[in-house]
Amino acid sequence: MEDCLFCKIIKGEIPCHKIYEDKKTIVFLDINPWSRGHCLILPKKHFRDILEIDAETLTHIILVVQKISVLVKEKLGVAGINILQNNNRIAGQGVDHIHFHVIPRYIDGSLKISHSTEYKGDDLEEVTKLLTESK
Ligand code: 5GP
Ligand code: ZN
Repeated sequence: MEDCLFCKIIKGEIPCHKIYEDKKTIVFLDINPWSRGHCLILPKKHFRDILEIDAETLTHIILVVQKISVLVKEKLGVAGINILQNNNRIAGQGVDHIHFHVIPRYIDGSLKISHSTEYKGDDLEEVTKLLTESK
């Protein structure tokens, strides 16, 4: 897609620190990393988000996410890993070309990802009903 930053990186028009590439996928370091070895995994074909990507590409991508997780664990001495994938601005998506973050966590690392919400989950029954009843 013409105006997509990540499509430009895939085409080589914008440089990146490439970690891995195959026919369908590219992996490079995040330019503004949350931790050492923070990688972005994305399909070479442009899809906006998890709602748009096709099942075959998604299946391939998630296997690459696992491969990169193994790589950072083995090569960087990573103690834990967060996988993050944002959809839409409201959820923090800044680049509209689907990507998975692999975010290494280190013993004594300073990164904090905290769970903070006012929602207390006091309508779990209703939500379960909404999500399980057929239309
Ligand atoms: P999102 O917020 O959409 O889930 O993640 C987009 C990520 O892309 C951000 O973490 C941001 O730092 C990264 N990013 C934005 N522009 C560039 C760039 O030009 N090069 C690279 N390598 N990463 C970028
Ligand atoms: Zn794109």
